[in-house]
Amino acid sequence: MPIQLLPISLANQIAAGEVIERPASVVKELVENCLDAGASQISVDIEQGGRRRIRVRDNGGGIVKEELGLALSRHATSKIASLSDLEAIQSLGFRGEALASISSVSRLTLTSKTATQEQAWQAWVEGRDMQAELAPASHPEGTTVDAQDLFFNTPARRKFLRTDKTEFAHIDEVLRRIALARFGVRFSLTHNDKIVRQYNAVQEPEHAIKRVAQVCGSSFTDTALGLDEQTGPVRLWGWIAPAHACRHQADVQYFYVNGRMMRDRLLGHAVRQAYGDTLNDERTPSFVLYLELPAEDVDVNVHPAKHEVRFHQARQIHDFVLHCARQALSSARATAATEAEQ
Ligand code: ADP
Ligand code: MG
Repeated sequence: MPIQLLPISLANQIAAGEVIERPASVVKELVENCLDAGASQISVDIEQGGRRRIRVRDNGGGIVKEELGLALSRHATSKIASLSDLEAIQSLGFRGEALASISSVSRLTLTSKTATQEQAWQAWVEGRDMQAELAPASHPEGTTVDAQDLFFNTPARRKFLRTDKTEFAHIDEVLRRIALARFGVRFSLTHNDKIVRQYNAVQEPEHAIKRVAQVCGSSFTDTALGLDEQTGPVRLWGWIAPAHACRHQADVQYFYVNGRMMRDRLLGHAVRQAYGDTLNDERTPSFVLYLELPAEDVDVNVHPAKHEVRFHQARQIHDFVLHCARQALSSARATAATEAEQ
């Protein structure tokens, strides 16, 4: 075959292969976009485990009519413009790929209205070159992305979808993670028109624990130890369960770096090490922890799905997390020992 440029739709489908694994990946990307747009209310409506429909609506800043087509194109983003922006990323998104990818593997419409516009507009793309079409629409200020019939044109991917129940469980988990990342935002989740979750906005920081209880269960919050430590510009805060309250399942393991949920080996290792041999092989740590550090000290452009980060000072970060977690756990043991003596 001669060398030729791929049709845009096919190039986008290939890109989708990296980040859009299942309905839950779509939900993650769309809800992150709402957060980047400054939304305070986000609703996620799912039909048939997401294979029939994923609709995400927000009350954020919206997209102007002239940029709707661009929003659906690959490598188009409003979040970074230069390498220096990439090196100190503040937003959740920056790759400019999600909407283009999702619209290449579903029937997607993007509807939006900004504060300065009288009229809302709807956009969708069609054909091999994914040309954007536009039509006037009715929509309050904010944005709705409606993605229907996911993987209708990529049967290989569709084949790997599990039951609606399993796919929905993954979506539910994505929303839990995000709910723990943004206490001030109200989230709702429906499945086949039934309300499944409602996370009300937390106005006072001291009420954050209520949302943690809603997401992780009161069995976690009843015993969890609070911690909050800072050294220079680096802060670690959150909750960690004492060894005796830890369970077999690794179901309460949430680690956030600058508001982004991570599955990071280094951080996981530091927390596990803090327990030392107080935790036997049958139990695994439970924690909800938030690490905050200057954006330029961490590289999030490591993995397309952004699950991993690279710390510029990995050793120091590891030791700081270890130190804080160890201190929280040992002060709890000391209290328990004094109470036992009395
Ligand atoms: P990225 O988030 O990496 O920039 P996306 O493909 O997810 O790429 O989105 C492309 C662009 O579309 C974003 O940079 C943003 O300007 C705009 N956009 C997407 N979703 C929303 C939304 N819910 N509200 C406002 N703007 C949005
Ligand atoms: Mg995005």
